[in-house]
Amino acid sequence: MTKTLGIIGGGQLGMMLTEAAKNMPEHISDTIVLDPTKNCPASRVGAKQIVADFKDKNAIVELSLQSDIITYEIESGDSKVLESLHGEVSINPSPGTLRIIQDKYLQKQFLRQNDIPVADFDAIESVQDLEKKIKDFQYPALLKARRDAYDGRGNFKIENSYQIETAYKQFSGRPMMIEKFVDFKMEVSVIAARNIHGQIATYPLVENIHKDNILEFTIAPARVDAKIASEADRIAKKTMDVFHGAGVFGIEMFVTKDDKVLINEIAPRVHNSGHHTLQSSETSQFEQHLRAIIGLPLGSTKLRHATIMCNILGPKDFAGRYKPIMLEQKEGVYLKMYYKDDAKPQRKLGHFNVVDEQDTRDMESLMKKTIKLKDSVRFIPQD
Ligand code: AMP
Repeated sequence: MTKTLGIIGGGQLGMMLTEAAKNMPEHISDTIVLDPTKNCPASRVGAKQIVADFKDKNAIVELSLQSDIITYEIESGDSKVLESLHGEVSINPSPGTLRIIQDKYLQKQFLRQNDIPVADFDAIESVQDLEKKIKDFQYPALLKARRDAYDGRGNFKIENSYQIETAYKQFSGRPMMIEKFVDFKMEVSVIAARNIHGQIATYPLVENIHKDNILEFTIAPARVDAKIASEADRIAKKTMDVFHGAGVFGIEMFVTKDDKVLINEIAPRVHNSGHHTLQSSETSQFEQHLRAIIGLPLGSTKLRHATIMCNILGPKDFAGRYKPIMLEQKEGVYLKMYYKDDAKPQRKLGHFNVVDEQDTRDMESLMKKTIKLKDSVRFIPQD
């Protein structure tokens, strides 16, 4: 029997999930997304859309009435509303897992309780509490907003005691936590999946390079030795074991200078660092997520070719309509734009994958090719 899929969020992740759903007509007949932006990216590739805020209770109920299974592409949905619906409609990953992950402190506490390595952290209740606790953490330390923070916007690196008050004021009124600063040598991630029957699969470790706290490149596979890759894989599998519910999770980690692997953050959804799988892997992360929540056996996560993904962001000084982005047609280069009519500063508008289809494994040349292509991207305002 085919099912109607409901997705909270219809941005680029919802768009690529919709495209994957359309390739599985024997399982999914329709996709409906809930998104506040009219003509959101998912609607442009055939999803029906309920135009409403992600936290609009009536809209979430409406989505649940129209869907057989619900999932999300953003983690800011109202987990309490979702928890109240649980049982009437299948929701994955489970709202309970979403509730824990939405709060960075609860997330880290849950990981630590399950013996999964994370940097030291503690909750902060007041500026006096911060002054007291930072003595144990030493400088630099990170003050983080516990909720609704992304792309580094909820972090303040405190370098000395004079910055304590400024840091605290930045998040005042919001729950906060303090975290030890990790002097990492690399940021990496594992895209992991668990289906409703408990089957777990992980993709090979990838390396992530950020600029201004936003992902710029993902290099698949990560340039680390086998021991680190296998430790990251062990941690990712253990994480999938302890969190309930099904779906794809993006597990972001640090590799420290002394080769330890720590989890930084978990996203209970398909992840930007998994976009390379569209061309590099036997099963894309989007198909994998659908397989997981429908209850199909998970697909192969084998990396067919080394690949570098590069995000295309709106320029810092430009907002508005723009002419179609052109990329030089080269062998092994795949451009994916997200149907966002307006560019905004640093907004993700698309990405491209550069695939080592000849299997040269020459990552340096692949990186050079990627940077050259990135530098060739021009934004031309639409008259
Ligand atoms: P977050 O939004 O918490 O994932 O953090 C955004 C970025 O801040 C990460 O990708 C890291 O580059 C950096 N970051 C976060 N936590 C730490 C930490 N404990 N130590 C050092 N850098 C961090």
